[in-house]
Amino acid sequence: MIVEEIEQLKKELNALIMAHNYQLPEVQDVADFVGDSLELATKSKSTDADYIVLAGVDFMAETAAILNPGKTVLIPSHLASCEMARYLDPKTIEEYKKAYPESKIVLYINSTAECKALADSICTSANAAKVVKAIESDIVLFGPDANLAKYVSKNTKKKVIPLPPNGHCYVHTYFDPEEVLKIKRKDGGEVMAHPECVEEVQAVADVVASTGGMIKHVATSNSKKFIVVTECDMSYRLKKLYPDREFIPAWDNAICLGMRQITLEKIWESLKYKRYKVQVDNKIAQKARMAVERMFELT
Ligand code: SF4
Repeated sequence: MIVEEIEQLKKELNALIMAHNYQLPEVQDVADFVGDSLELATKSKSTDADYIVLAGVDFMAETAAILNPGKTVLIPSHLASCEMARYLDPKTIEEYKKAYPESKIVLYINSTAECKALADSICTSANAAKVVKAIESDIVLFGPDANLAKYVSKNTKKKVIPLPPNGHCYVHTYFDPEEVLKIKRKDGGEVMAHPECVEEVQAVADVVASTGGMIKHVATSNSKKFIVVTECDMSYRLKKLYPDREFIPAWDNAICLGMRQITLEKIWESLKYKRYKVQVDNKIAQKARMAVERMFELT
């Protein structure tokens, strides 16, 4: 019933529902488009919908608003926030920039609009190494994820300085390499780990990839079974795309609480009451847009 009402409201508003790969299964099912951060940002630029309902966390909705000044972007819950993004603030970026004046600043899309406005380019986990390789400096300040910074450093020949040194995602740092290997020994299959995991977990993975990268990897792999080391709802997304393969979440309780704030009821309320509108200060949005667009140019 609620699904039909959502469909009806969507038509009335000319709205598009975009959902991240970590959303609850029923939210993924009601969405017009499901993807990783990069795909959501790219898709938001090409839609002719008047309203974008972003079923994801705050920085994703902010990015859609930054890229689409003429559209109304709604986030169904005020509590849908990314804990990792809170590790970084503009003051820290300015301090690091003073210490490394010759560096370029590449920020993970999981950052606030205020931080993005200070970056030379944004990146996502799908293109982080590509952006860092392409940016015009051998010293790169990279934040807020220190694990992704290490991954990028290994995959480029550049000096990648994490800012801050301890930024991380609590969901991805749950995973333990021994536990992952235990599952592999018991069930077999390929291990796919997200680059937000600690490097010891990345080291036991057959593939380290963003959620979009995992989807692409399965398409070309001969394996029938995969151990998925990221937020647990990613396995639903994979199973829907590849019903003939088996996906084992490395831990059923690897839940992003920010993502879980979005429910069908919240989406219904969002469309019905046109809430919550995402607003980004014009000056900040303009600078942040340049940094996001730079990512598209570099990749
Ligand atoms: S899984 Fe981690 S990085 Fe992703 S939105 Fe949740 S808290 Fe942020």
